[in-house]
Amino acid sequence: MRGFFMFIKFAKYFILMRQIFTLILSISLLASCTPSKNVKQTKIIKKVIRDTVYLEKIKAGNENKYVSAVLDDYKINDSHFPAIGQDYRQKFLILHYTALDNYRSYNVLTEQQVSSHYLINDIDDNTIDILVSESQRAWHAGYSYWLGRTNINDSSIGIEIVNPGYRIEDEQIIFFPYPEYQFKKVAKLSKNIVERYDIDPTYVLGHSDVAPQRKEDPGALFPWKRLYDEYGVGAWYEDVDKYEYIRQFPYERKDSEAFILAYQKEFAKYGYEVPQDGIWSKKMEKLTAAFQMHFRPSNYSGELDAETWAILRALNKKYRD
Ligand SMILES: [Zn+2]
Repeated sequence: MRGFFMFIKFAKYFILMRQIFTLILSISLLASCTPSKNVKQTKIIKKVIRDTVYLEKIKAGNENKYVSAVLDDYKINDSHFPAIGQDYRQKFLILHYTALDNYRSYNVLTEQQVSSHYLINDIDDNTIDILVSESQRAWHAGYSYWLGRTNINDSSIGIEIVNPGYRIEDEQIIFFPYPEYQFKKVAKLSKNIVERYDIDPTYVLGHSDVAPQRKEDPGALFPWKRLYDEYGVGAWYEDVDKYEYIRQFPYERKDSEAFILAYQKEFAKYGYEVPQDGIWSKKMEKLTAAFQMHFRPSNYSGELDAETWAILRALNKKYRD
């Protein structure tokens, strides 16, 4: 009887050893059979933006996440995947406020003809809502323009922030502030999105940047500078450039057609939709106010002044020249 138990014990031990051996063998076989495309590597691709060729690194690993057709009759062959000529369709990150309370924001953004990818509630908790998959198009930007692109919905991720918007006092627009916890949610989410899709800093924008004639959101109290300083998200100018351009501001001919046209050209260069006619108009005032809300929020009167002009030039020097 004892010999029989010893035999069972030995047989169990033998089976276990055989299983371990098979496992090791299959892992090493798998590793040696895996095609070289799965080896960690970085691909360099060429990207052409407005006649300039940029070299872009595609991080290894990202190219293997793909969606493809599944057909009954044919096999989708991925042995030539990935092709070099590709980039992300998500080019923009657009920030908004809802101008509604929490409850109505959820209702409007999920049950009507407007939506956004993310909704940041106004509750101090650790939740962020996703309403539309990042791979789908959300309807948040409407008619919009940036650097020759229109219909920014096609190529953006939209974040709506629950905030009352503004009230009018003595003909002045007074915005409502963003609580710190809400800013943190927006900032962390934005950083994550920008990194994953490699979104250009100058393509992180407010609704008012891509639709300055119609929209004011996310308003002058959204802390764009903090988003840049503390999270490295979005664009900001260098102070030294700003002061240099302020010194060069041509006060004596600031109302001339030639100067207004030069100012309009600077706007167009950075990305805004702007007339090119050398005429100061209501449109120019609206556009200037939208720009100031983003980059010079202490005064968003819409007047063309030395600092506004200098900031615009400093941004172009840093990001467009
Ligand atoms: Zn908006």
